[in-house]
Amino acid sequence: VATTAKLPRADFLLTNAGRLVTCSRGFGEGLLGVIEYGAFAAAEGEIIWVGQEHYLRGSVEIAPDAVEIDAGGGAVLPGFVDCHTHLVFAGDRSEEFAARLRGSPYSAGGVAATVSATRAADDDELRALALQRLERFASFGVTTVEAKTGYGLTPHNERRLLEIACGLDHPVELVPTYMGAHVIPEQYAEEPDEYVAMVSEQIPDVAGQAEFCDVWCDRGAFTLEQSRRILEGAREAGMKLKVHAEQFKRTGGAQLAAELKATSADHLEHATWEDAQALAEAGVVAVLLPGASLMTASPFAPARMLIERGARVALSTDFNPGSSYTENLQLMVALACIHLKMTPEEAILGITRHAAAAVAREGKAGSLEPGAAADLVVLHETTELALAYHYGVNLAARVFKRGDEIV
Ligand code: ZN
Repeated sequence: VATTAKLPRADFLLTNAGRLVTCSRGFGEGLLGVIEYGAFAAAEGEIIWVGQEHYLRGSVEIAPDAVEIDAGGGAVLPGFVDCHTHLVFAGDRSEEFAARLRGSPYSAGGVAATVSATRAADDDELRALALQRLERFASFGVTTVEAKTGYGLTPHNERRLLEIACGLDHPVELVPTYMGAHVIPEQYAEEPDEYVAMVSEQIPDVAGQAEFCDVWCDRGAFTLEQSRRILEGAREAGMKLKVHAEQFKRTGGAQLAAELKATSADHLEHATWEDAQALAEAGVVAVLLPGASLMTASPFAPARMLIERGARVALSTDFNPGSSYTENLQLMVALACIHLKMTPEEAILGITRHAAAAVAREGKAGSLEPGAAADLVVLHETTELALAYHYGVNLAARVFKRGDEIV
């Protein structure tokens, strides 16, 4: 008697995707792994099968109460990953922005205004603001958001921001990053090393809760030596690393990220080809933030040079109140195509698989393949190219997190 192998049992089906853009290396055609007339099946929020719809019903057993989502012929992509945000803060810097338009230069000093407003806000206010922002991210198809502390700048306030971020009750997955080393607070301007020591002391306390430690290594922020001290301590405490590097001036942050095998080096507007080479060789993801260049009228990062040297490039909003106040990650695709000279395919990988790699979630988020979360965006359009071409509008028609419809 022949036995039939038991098929995996699906409780969620996505069907009728005109183009299923898997962003996976193992499926579909081209850089983005596109499957025409694609479908996938999931169980308990995780994808178990991906392929042409024609083969779906012979490949999985379908639970009687399975949910079936008809994409209506639209393009379907993995839920987008925003891998670099400063999510939790209070206060308004629209006046500072207007002053910049009248000619004042952008500098790291503006952070102090947000720090004062954030310290003055109570937990409920900060939580409500962060939840509104997550809701807006979700509306644009973002299902995973990295969130940095860094507007507290005292051990008490940094811990408070980290706990607020980790406690947010929202379906968007949050990746917590401790960034006590955002800027040197005003009261330590004369004794910056005392502040560095304070951050280093806090690291073992936050290491259980924050996945990443990030440092702004730049003119006006932390020196290379201070950044190294903090990041080495974080690595010893078991944290993964990120570095804000080479934004205003080349100070060596990218080489440090490569040397310490950081998960990502972010900004990189002033990175050189040697930096690109080092990042590529160390497997550090280059996170580029074209919104920050746009809104501060600063140079754009050398994306082509990074890609040509073999670095993986991710894109993010850099959501923050000083230099890039937007939750529209889709817009970064259009900006990357025009200002960073990236192809639409490279830019879409930048907000999906490569962004997932920048938060150490490659294969779990940012791609549609077995083992990944059933996070997806159905576009209003039939092609993913619309993300570059139909710019400045929201193309997300339906958004799902682990198989649950959230928008
Ligand atoms: Zn940033």
